Amino acid sequence: MIVFDVLTIFPSMIKAYLSESIMKRAIEKGIVQVNVVNIRDYTEDKHRQVDDYPYGGGAGMVFKPEPIFNAIDSLCRDGKKRHIVLLSPGGRIFNQSVAEEYAREKEHILFICGRYEGVDERIKTLVNEELSIGDYVLTGGELPALVIIDAVTRLLPGALGDEDSSKEESFTSGILEYPQYTRPVEYRGMRVPEVLLSGNHQLIRRWRRKEALRRTLKRRPDLLEKIDLAEEDRELIKEIKEEEQWN
Ligand code: SAM
Repeated sequence: MIVFDVLTIFPSMIKAYLSESIMKRAIEKGIVQVNVVNIRDYTEDKHRQVDDYPYGGGAGMVFKPEPIFNAIDSLCRDGKKRHIVLLSPGGRIFNQSVAEEYAREKEHILFICGRYEGVDERIKTLVNEELSIGDYVLTGGELPALVIIDAVTRLLPGALGDEDSSKEESFTSGILEYPQYTRPVEYRGMRVPEVLLSGNHQLIRRWRRKEALRRTLKRRPDLLEKIDLAEEDRELIKEIKEEEQWN
C-alpha cells in the first residue's frame, strides 16, 4: 500500500476525483490511502491567511511558509518517513518511468500543491524533490498531484481489474501502444484489420508490435533512441520504412 498526503487549500477538488471509478475502488480495497490536508487549518492568524505579497514587489501572491511548515511538522509527528514532493512547473518532469519508480520504491508520499505565484522559497528546504507534469503553467498543484496519484496507483497490484492492462500500454514497453479495435467489425465503411479477426496469435502479436513501432516512428521517434531494439523490431522497422517509402 502507498499512502499519499495532499496539502492543498482546495481539499474538495482532490476528494471529488478520488470518489469515482478506479481511484475510489483502490482506496476501498486498501491499495492506496489518501489523506487530504487543508493547509488553511494550519494558519496562525484569525483570517486564516495562507498567502502574502512577495518581497521586492511584482504581480501575485506567494504561499506563506508558516502554514505549510506547521502542517508538515504536525503530520510528521507520527514518526513515519515521507517522500515530500512540491508540485512545480520547474521540477523534474513526471513521466511513466517516474510513475514506475514511485510505485516500486515509495511507501508514503506527501504532495504540496502550490497556488498563486508559487511558494516561499524556504518551503523548499522541506522538500525531497520538485515534480512538474509538463512544460505549461496551471493555476495550482491539485491537478498535478492527482495526475501523479492516478498514474502511480494504476501500477499497483490489484488496482486495475485486468492485471495485464498496464503492461502493454504506451511508454510501459518504451514505445507507444498499438491501435485497438472493438465491435462492430465494420463501422461507417471502416473495417477492423483482418489479422485481428484471424485468431492467429503469433500473427496478431507481430502486427501489434509492427503498428506500435510505426506509430512511434511517426509520432515519437525520440522514444526509439532510448530502448534496445530486438532483431524482430529491426526487421519490422525495415518493412515499415519500405511501406511508408521513407528510404
Ligand atoms: N510562478 C510560478 C512559476 O513561474 O513557476 C507558477 C505558479 S503556478 C501559477 C501555481 C502552482 O501551480 C505552482 O506553485 C505549482 O504548485 C502548480 N503548477 C502549475 N503548473 C504546474 C506544472 N506544470 N507541474 C506541476 N505543478 C504545477
